[in-house]
Amino acid sequence: MHSSSWAQSETLTPSAPESPPAVTEAKEVTYPLTPEISSYCKELNKKFTAYKWGDPACEKYKWNHVRNSNLGTPLIWTVFGEEDTAAAENTTLFLCGVHGDEITPVKFCWDLLEELRKNHEFKDKLVVVAPLVAPDSFFKPHPTRTNGRGVDVNRNFPTKDWKADAHRKWKDNLGKDKRKFPGPHAASEQETIFQMNLILRYKPNKVISVHAPLTILDYDGPSLSIEKGKSAKVLLEQMSEKSSGYKISNYPIFPGSLGNWSGKEKHIPTYTLELPNTNPAETNRFWSLFKDSMVYAIENKMKPPVD
Ligand SMILES: [Zn+2]
Repeated sequence: MHSSSWAQSETLTPSAPESPPAVTEAKEVTYPLTPEISSYCKELNKKFTAYKWGDPACEKYKWNHVRNSNLGTPLIWTVFGEEDTAAAENTTLFLCGVHGDEITPVKFCWDLLEELRKNHEFKDKLVVVAPLVAPDSFFKPHPTRTNGRGVDVNRNFPTKDWKADAHRKWKDNLGKDKRKFPGPHAASEQETIFQMNLILRYKPNKVISVHAPLTILDYDGPSLSIEKGKSAKVLLEQMSEKSSGYKISNYPIFPGSLGNWSGKEKHIPTYTLELPNTNPAETNRFWSLFKDSMVYAIENKMKPPVD
């Protein structure tokens, strides 16, 4: 099932384990883990212990897994709500851990997962969470921005300007900064293809990508002057308001960035939440600050994607 072709895989029904879930005494469901996901969860547990984050409760989620990183690490996601129903009219995609040295966003998605698992119903909505997009960069003893092959996954999307500008700007503007290498060619990285396929498969009404440490909320997507852009702008302002007036800033897009591909080119409202810092001891504070804002975003029925 680990095809290298991105036309397949995440866009098809994945081969998730289908054994019936076991119900624990606390009415919580536990899912059987495949050997691959099981060792993934062990790596995750080690990091959670090192950062004093407690138990990620990996076995409490039904993981989808059809693709590995180039180093062989599973790229996983989970879905809340029923696929292929009217619920999909309101679909939110969360992406965390795109840059592994940004430690706090990883825990942010696990806090989100716990919240969704314990406190929410999903009758009229779908929430898709990829809590650790680039696991190789996070699982290293000293996490890095780039993935296991030294590529900045957020400069690797096949945007229209990639061929002409990605390498040129990397050389001219960034002095070939290794932390921002856009890759040998567009969509060369499994972590990029993984995110693209999630977007193509679920056609989210909105994408929320969590990074650190720029301390801003950024929006890319339909123009704020058209109707769809207006509802996207309302959500942006509400997200800020519900997190103590968190700063909204229009950060530039780059060749190969998610905001460029998903927001500008695919016209999907794409929000980048940049947390204030990468200090693992601060994660509880950040979740408290943004919880209401994230729940509000999930509940918000926006116009469906144009294409
Ligand atoms: Zn980042």
